[in-house]
Amino acid sequence: MIFSRKKQEILDPYTVEQCTSCNASKKRKFAEGDYVFKAIGNCTSCNNGQVTVLKIYGETIK
Ligand SMILES: [Zn+2]
Repeated sequence: MIFSRKKQEILDPYTVEQCTSCNASKKRKFAEGDYVFKAIGNCTSCNNGQVTVLKIYGETIK
């Protein structure tokens, strides 16, 4: 079975960061060296929790 598409899809990678304390999440462009569960730093929303990378995914550019 041949699976063909009209044109090649280009994926734009995004990184979602989330605070372990207040669960504030932020989406930003993927940066080199990002990986899931990577510690980003202190949360600027609650000044209490640690912000880590929740997930990395690609969005199709239309
Ligand atoms: Zn927080």
